[in-house]
Amino acid sequence: MNTKYHVIIAGAGVAGLYAALCLPKDITVLLLSKQSLEVCNSSLAQGGIAAVYNPADDDNYNLHYHDSLRAGGFKNNPETLWKLVSEAPLDIERVINFGVDFDKDSCGNYHRTLEGGHCRRRIFHYKDSSGNEVTSRLREQVLSRDNITVMSEAELCNLKCTHTGFSADVLFVGEKGDVTPVQNGTVPANLQGGHHETFDCAYFILATGGIGRVYERTTNASIATGDGICIAYELGAKIKNLSYIQFHPTAFNDKSETGTRECFLISESVRGEGAYLINRDGRRFMADYDPERMELAPRDVVSHAIISEAKKLSSDEFYLDITHKPADFIREHFPAINKFLLSKGIDMTTDKIPIYPCHHYLMGGINVDVTGQTSVNRLYACGECAHTGVHGQNRLASNSLLEALVFGRSCAEQITKRLREKPVNPEKLTTYRFLRRFDAKPIPVGLRTKIREIMQKACFVFPDMGEVKRGLPEVTRIKEELENGNYIVDANYVEAKSLATVAYLILREII
Ligand SMILES: Cc1cc2nc3c(=O)[nH]c(=O)nc-3n(C[C@H](O)[C@H](O)[C@H](O)COP(=O)(O)OP(=O)(O)OC[C@H]3O[C@@H](n4cnc5c(N)ncnc54)[C@H](O)[C@@H]3O)c2cc1C
Repeated sequence: MNTKYHVIIAGAGVAGLYAALCLPKDITVLLLSKQSLEVCNSSLAQGGIAAVYNPADDDNYNLHYHDSLRAGGFKNNPETLWKLVSEAPLDIERVINFGVDFDKDSCGNYHRTLEGGHCRRRIFHYKDSSGNEVTSRLREQVLSRDNITVMSEAELCNLKCTHTGFSADVLFVGEKGDVTPVQNGTVPANLQGGHHETFDCAYFILATGGIGRVYERTTNASIATGDGICIAYELGAKIKNLSYIQFHPTAFNDKSETGTRECFLISESVRGEGAYLINRDGRRFMADYDPERMELAPRDVVSHAIISEAKKLSSDEFYLDITHKPADFIREHFPAINKFLLSKGIDMTTDKIPIYPCHHYLMGGINVDVTGQTSVNRLYACGECAHTGVHGQNRLASNSLLEALVFGRSCAEQITKRLREKPVNPEKLTTYRFLRRFDAKPIPVGLRTKIREIMQKACFVFPDMGEVKRGLPEVTRIKEELENGNYIVDANYVEAKSLATVAYLILREII
C-alpha cells in the first residue's frame, strides 16, 4: 500500500472532494473520510448554492456582497468575501460540468430560489436536496480519478510537521477499511478496524467540517466533532472566531419518542417561498422584531426573535406555515421535506410545521488567508472547519457550499503552484514515528454528554455569562485529562478530545 502522497486531504464533503478534483492528475492525493463517504454535512444541505451567475441580469456581485455583509454584521473580511462572490460563477460552471443537475424552469434557464437575507433569487438548487446532488456527482468524479486514493472509515487522529511536510496518524475504524480504488481488487489486510497507519505528504488540506456535536441539539451529521480544528490548534495554527456560531431558526421540533439529537432542518427556502413564522397564538411575531424583512430576515435575527418570544410567552411552541400555497407547488418544491414530515404524521400542505432553533453552523475556525493557507506552512484548510472571514458573525444562507467550492479550489491551485515551482518526490518524504500507547484504557463514560450539557447551557443563541464562567474550568479539566491521561486512541477518544478542545476555545473566547 502506498503511504506517501503529494497531498493528503482529510474530509470528503464538498470542500475535500472539490479540492481533490481541482488538483491536476499528475499530483497524487489521499482523501480520508472518517465514516462512510456519504456521512457529512454537505450531503444534508437542502437549500442550495448562492451565486450570481449572469451579472447582466437584475443581480450583480455588489448586491451579493452587500447581502453577505449585512447578514454578517459587517464583520466579514472584504477581500475574501469579494473573492467568494466574484468567483462563484466559475465554480458553478465547473460543478455543472462535473454533472450536477441544478433545477431549470420551463424555458430551460436555471431556476433560482430565494432565501433569508438575499435581495434577489440567486440560489442554485436541486429540489430540496442540493447537497446530496452535489456530493454524489463530485464523489463519482473523485472515484474515477487514478491519482486519487479514497479511504473511508479512516480517521485522522494526529498530524505532525516533518522536514518535508506532514506525517498523519490514521485509524481505521470500520470492520475493514474501505479503500477505493481497491488495490488489485483486494482490501489490504493491514487496514482492519482498530489498526493505525502512518501516511506522509508534502501538503495537507484539512476539510473536516463543523462542530455541531458539541451541542445537545444540532442539524449536523455525526462526523461534526471539530477534529480538524483540534488538530490544527495542537499544531499551533491560529484559530479564529470560534464563538461565531449560527443557530438555525427552523429545525423541526420533534417532541416524539423517536426524536433524535440530530435535528431535521426545515430549509430556509420554505420561508423564501412564502412560509409564515407563527407563535403559539398563530401570530406572525416577526412584525415585532424585524417588520421590514419579517420571515426573510437573516438567521441570527430570526433565532433571536424566537428565543425572545419564547421567554415572553413561556412557550417553545413555534410553527412554519406554508399551507396558503398550492399543495402541488409545495410537493414539487419540497419533496424531501414533505416526505420526512409525512413520516412524522405532518402534512405540510395542510398542517403547520413545529420548529425551534438549534445549532447549525460554525463561521469561525482555522484561520486561513485568501489562498486557504493556515498559519502553519504547507497546511491548508477549507470548508466549514476554515475561517476565511467571508461570513462575518452570521452566515448568509447558501454561502457555505459556495465557500467550500471557491476556497477548496483555491487551496488546490495554491498547492499546485507551489509543487510546480518546487517539485516534490513523495518517495523522499520523511516519516514521523508516532508513539503507540500500550496498557492504555478507554476514556471515562459520560465526558461527551457533560461537554454538550455545558455548551447548551452556556451559549445557545444568547451566551449566558454565568454558565460560561462555570463551564470553562470544567471543560478545561476534561481537555487536560484527555490530553495527559493514558487513553486508547480510538474514535471515541479522538472525538471527545476534539469536542473538549472546541468547547474550551469557544468559552475562552467569550469570557
Ligand atoms: C442540514 C444542513 C443543511 C444545510 N444546508 C445548506 C445549504 O442549503 N446551503 C449551504 O451553502 N450550506 C448548507 N449547509 C452547510 C453546509 O452543508 C456545510 O457547511 C458544508 O457542506 C460543509 O462542507 P465541508 O466539506 O466543509 O464539511 P462536511 O461536508 O461536513 O464534510 C466533512 C468531512 O470531513 C470528514 N472528517 C471529519 N473529521 C475527520 C477525521 N478526523 N478524519 C478523517 N475525516 C474526517 C468527514 O468524514 C467528512 O467527510 C447545511 C448544513 C446542514 C447540516
